[in-house]
Amino acid sequence: MARLVILGAGVAGHTAALHARRRLGKAHEVIVVAPNAQWNWIPSNIWVGVGKMPAEKVLFPLAPVYRRQGIEFHQALATEIHPEGGDGHDHSYVVVRSTAKGAEGREEAIEYDFLINATGPKLNFAATKGLGPDGYTLSVCTAPHAAATAGELKKAIARLKAGEHLRFVVGTGHGTCTCEGAAFEYTFNLDHVLREAGVRDRAEVVYLTNEAQLGDFGVGGLTFTQQGFQTTSKLWTESLYRERGIQAILGAHCTQIEPGVVHYEQIDGSLHELPFDFAMLLPPFRGADLKAYDKAGADISDQLFNPAGFLKVDANYAAGAYENWSADDWPKTYQSPLYDNVFAAGIAFAPPHQISQPRTSPNGTLIAPAPPRTGMPSGMIAKAVVLTIVDRIRGGGAAAHEAPMTRMGAACVASAGMSFFKGSAAAMTMHPVVPDWRKYPATGRDLKGTSGEIGLAGHWMKHTLHVLFLYKAKAHPLWWLIPE
Ligand SMILES: Cc1cc2nc3c(=O)[nH]c(=O)nc-3n(C[C@H](O)[C@H](O)[C@H](O)COP(=O)(O)OP(=O)(O)OC[C@H]3O[C@@H](n4cnc5c(N)ncnc54)[C@H](O)[C@@H]3O)c2cc1C
Repeated sequence: MARLVILGAGVAGHTAALHARRRLGKAHEVIVVAPNAQWNWIPSNIWVGVGKMPAEKVLFPLAPVYRRQGIEFHQALATEIHPEGGDGHDHSYVVVRSTAKGAEGREEAIEYDFLINATGPKLNFAATKGLGPDGYTLSVCTAPHAAATAGELKKAIARLKAGEHLRFVVGTGHGTCTCEGAAFEYTFNLDHVLREAGVRDRAEVVYLTNEAQLGDFGVGGLTFTQQGFQTTSKLWTESLYRERGIQAILGAHCTQIEPGVVHYEQIDGSLHELPFDFAMLLPPFRGADLKAYDKAGADISDQLFNPAGFLKVDANYAAGAYENWSADDWPKTYQSPLYDNVFAAGIAFAPPHQISQPRTSPNGTLIAPAPPRTGMPSGMIAKAVVLTIVDRIRGGGAAAHEAPMTRMGAACVASAGMSFFKGSAAAMTMHPVVPDWRKYPATGRDLKGTSGEIGLAGHWMKHTLHVLFLYKAKAHPLWWLIPE
């Protein structure tokens, strides 16, 4: 009998758990450790954050799904990994601290044969003083954050209706943020909602971003085909913003947020203040606060994780300067080079470097969009890791399954309005996520799989994804037929 322990029940961890349970016989155990009682379909938090969807529609309780599937669920936060055992354990184990009602703080050790770290991002609001719901800005990163943001937006719209003029700032709250696609999507939705309420003329909407150019999205921008013509995501996003009267502030690192004021530095080293009435700014991401120890109890966290807390896997972390970067640096199997029974999936793996060119201001401030590991790659990586583990549990000597981001695509759909006839979406697809300049010398990506479209089609696609992914996550009949 083998035991697989999965840390995290987000896109990657939950996908891994369901696939592992389906493929492993009942003789083997699948255990999930996650601090949250509910699963959240995060992409739809955008709609919650503009008041177009109640938070309940993007959440459901995990325990009944796991009970039905025969997956053991520990509602707890993993705090330590002991890959060599020790302290009375012959086996590898993790230490977890309960977050379940009535058992808060209770610690236990769970032994494992295989471990998947799918702990996603730690929302690092602390990186910028005053950033986030505990400071002076709003967020849509969790369902409760998004619901609170919708409440503030409602109040702001009431003020606009009463004749006030307000400034809305949306974007990234630090120079090293990722997930610019989500900020873009929120901007697009905000503009739509303000127009719908008939108050857009009294609202100034500013997109404040760490991207050096519009349309960078942390992937260095895209060249794509639109209605048969070749264009760039820069031109495409610029024209979307111009049409909607959205101003952009580029290459910005927020240094501090004070009540109603964002302080930021730009790539040229200039320092600015931007007063606001409503600000939704994303935090930078870190890895979860996990520590690792060897058999003797020595701290080996800096060997297992990178300085930002993401698990090091089979990537080339020694590529050095931007000029040396290549598609080959990116991981394929997501296996720890130190312990071959430890894997990472989703945001938890340490990328070898940015995809977008990093820049430093004359003051030495790094302004560098971090690489996005969006939903589709997170799910695909999780499934590949599970297939490798299943092979190993069954005793096969087969090579590890691969899911490199240099060979997989991703989609970003900014969809606004809930009506099937009046909604609209700006939809982008890219293939591959990480450009491969050797394979695609002209643009780094396959033009056939890289596109940008505006219109109702993307809007319907986003709604369909919402329904399908929630169906799949609830493990309803034939869920496995729905791709990652
Ligand atoms: C507002 C927003 C909109 C987005 N929109 C899109 C979109 O349209 N399309 C798209 O593809 N992607 C989108 N994304 C990105 C997508 O949500 C992520 O790529 C995806 O959730 C990453 O999956 P993950 O499993 O790595 O992390 P998560 O889904 O965040 O899951 C992490 C899990 O680990 C748990 N965890 C954390 N710490 C610990 C610990 N110490 N021990 C145990 N468990 C722990 C968490 O509670 C959670 O269950 C969006 C992101 C945001 C923030």
